[in-house]
Amino acid sequence: MNSEIRDLMRKFVGKYRSMSSTQSICIDDRQISRLRQMIDDARYVCITCHVSPDGDAVGSSLGLAHMLRALGKVAVVITPDAPAKNLMCLPGAQDILVGSHHPDAAARSFMRADLIVCLDFNEMRRIDRLVPMVDKSPAARIHIDHHLDPTVPADLVISSPASSSTCLLLFQILEKAGLACMIGRDSATCIYTGMMTDTGNFSYNASDPDIYRVISELLGRGIDKDEIYRRVWFTSTVQRMKLCAFAILEKMQLYPEHGLAIISLSRQELIEHGYTRGDTESLVNQPLALPGIVWSVFLRQDEDDYIKVSMRSVGDFPVNQVCHDHFGGGGHKNAAGGESHASLEDTISKIIGLAPSYDSYLPDPATPKSNL
Ligand code: 5GP
Ligand code: MN
Repeated sequence: MNSEIRDLMRKFVGKYRSMSSTQSICIDDRQISRLRQMIDDARYVCITCHVSPDGDAVGSSLGLAHMLRALGKVAVVITPDAPAKNLMCLPGAQDILVGSHHPDAAARSFMRADLIVCLDFNEMRRIDRLVPMVDKSPAARIHIDHHLDPTVPADLVISSPASSSTCLLLFQILEKAGLACMIGRDSATCIYTGMMTDTGNFSYNASDPDIYRVISELLGRGIDKDEIYRRVWFTSTVQRMKLCAFAILEKMQLYPEHGLAIISLSRQELIEHGYTRGDTESLVNQPLALPGIVWSVFLRQDEDDYIKVSMRSVGDFPVNQVCHDHFGGGGHKNAAGGESHASLEDTISKIIGLAPSYDSYLPDPATPKSNL
């Protein structure tokens, strides 16, 4: 290749690299050396994540635990409650200490720890029954997360709301800390899982080029990405399919004037369909397949006086704001949650009532859609 062409190519690649790297995060070098020091100093590490732990929460926790064990540390993953069944295929998932099943063992473990790492949640109440245990522990604390407005008290906070998943952020941090060489196949499998689940299989928040560099790194560690996809997603049951079909057929309400879809399932309906945890995972995404629907709400009446609120959106519609302002929750702009203690009917009426105040976030129909 002659040198003129090589120079041209270099310029071209450089141009696109600088244009596309805007989403890649910057992690402060001082934070990285502090993290490295805290890990080096620790012997017994507890890792915890949010209640109803999802792929990113479990993936980042187990991913870090495997890496720490490779370093010779004792690493215990403690979740407030059990992960959904489809995540139990992850390497190390069987060893998770579930706080709701073994509260005493969890409390003892936090007391023994000299380091606690809090992953994938931004406020303490997201770890539910583990709050007093973590508060009581004398251990040093690291908080790594990608939700907005972190308030978790910690000696070291690495917060990156621009990151699509805590798993991606964790990999980048470990890499910068010189620990990437300790990430083996099991750790990589867990990290990949969270990157995949928090981006809907790389279908949203997934334009950061570094995601694909990291995937390539993980593939290099021997992960079977197709198998991970199958294990995590192809685990349906007839009951689950029928429940989701019922929810869409009988319980979906559309308000196209507000770009809104609401699906609700009462306690009674859940019981009648033999609901088990995880059965409605990703149901909230389905209405977004309808052109014109940019805001999808799923209400699940887990207890008579407790409704889990889940919201998803596309584009500029800020469901985290809706959840924060009206349902005591939060999350990301396009995926958020909260809770309601009103009846299902009153909760639906509340959403319909507040919908007009968010109309300004709807895409302007006069603006032609770009052709990508
Ligand atoms: P999901 O709808 O899958 O339960 O939650 C989607 C996202 O919303 C989660 O990743 C989390 O960021 C956020 N989220 C869900 N429930 C709550 C909640 O009760 N409080 C807060 N602050 N965030 C939540
Ligand atoms: Mn996450």
